[in-house]
Amino acid sequence: MGTFLDSVPFSGIIRIRDMMYSVTDPFRLDQGDVSFDAPDSVKEAMRRAIDENRSHYLQTTGLPRLLELLADKLRTKNGIPVASPNEIMVTTGGIHGLFIICQALLEPGDEVIVPDPEWPPCAGNIRMAQGVAVPCPLHEPLGWRYDLGELESKITARTRAIYVNSPNNPSGGVLTRSDLESIVALAQRRGLWIISDEAYEDVLFDGEEHVSPASLPGAYDRTLSLYTFSKTYAMTGLRLGYVVARDAALRDRMKKALFYTASNISSVVQFGGIGALEGSQASVAAFRDELTARRNLFYDGIAANAGGVFSGEKPKGAFYAFLRINSEWQPPSESRHDSPSWAMTEYLISKGRIGCVPGADFGANGEGCVRFCFARDRAELTGALQSMKTLF
Ligand code: PMP
Repeated sequence: MGTFLDSVPFSGIIRIRDMMYSVTDPFRLDQGDVSFDAPDSVKEAMRRAIDENRSHYLQTTGLPRLLELLADKLRTKNGIPVASPNEIMVTTGGIHGLFIICQALLEPGDEVIVPDPEWPPCAGNIRMAQGVAVPCPLHEPLGWRYDLGELESKITARTRAIYVNSPNNPSGGVLTRSDLESIVALAQRRGLWIISDEAYEDVLFDGEEHVSPASLPGAYDRTLSLYTFSKTYAMTGLRLGYVVARDAALRDRMKKALFYTASNISSVVQFGGIGALEGSQASVAAFRDELTARRNLFYDGIAANAGGVFSGEKPKGAFYAFLRINSEWQPPSESRHDSPSWAMTEYLISKGRIGCVPGADFGANGEGCVRFCFARDRAELTGALQSMKTLF
């Protein structure tokens, strides 16, 4: 395992973060983090937990009250037929949920079909479990969705699972109910698992609905779903997520991966999670309304300020503008990059103080695009747009 870890890559996002430290007064549109604060219900619950000395070891899979609330949420909001809170495990954020799923599910060489473009830690976690991520394109003209025939063509004798991420980071593509029904039918026909990453389940625009694959008839038996408090409740740094699975044998394995990496998830943070779920959900809708306004502000600003250098449809979900670079754009002659998206990223950071992530970092199909996060506050977005006006 030691030398094997030498072959597991870090994401380019880390490289960008390091580049951003050399920039004064940067516009941090590179980070996938919201500028909102966690709701008071979370902060009060954590303060109370500290005052009541809730600083001791807990149950490995999570506080019973939190698991109960999550079971209720998964049944009523996601429509997943959860029979008992035992089917849920609390994790250190969504990324840890994905880690324990991959550790429990995969044998060396097992293939998992992943979207291209995709969130880089997905392939990283598959690799950490000695699996192989097999990219399948999301197509921009289809609203960054699959060609379902092409998805099926990626299945081989080694395929173990299809990882779906809707809404998708970085493209903002949202799979339709009919897409997900087809994917579930495919998984049933070919004996595959579905790993469903629903990190952005609450970040949908223009009346789009979120569909949890495990809610579809017969799907829960073969679906491992992961969620996070990071985006819905602006809790990115607190690190709280959860997974839900019906399969008891896989849950036993996941519990070991959870125990040996975390023992239990931070007590204070779990009480914060209880506060989030027991409290008013008004902040979730307020975040969504504000993100809609920021999305519109950013796309209007790109149309007005970027001199035709970027194009793209407004996303239906998640909070990223994944914009295509006009092929006529020429990087400065000193650019060291063959990759247009890296050349553009370096140009925006070094000349415009604008943080962004090259599309190539999300997969070969992301080349030619750059990702900007529009969940930053309006002043930061406006500053970046002004800077683009000067550059372009
Ligand atoms: N899945 C996707 C697609 C994400 O973009 C993220 C966060 N960027 C996560 C999962 C996990 O987030 P966290 O670990 O903060 O819960």
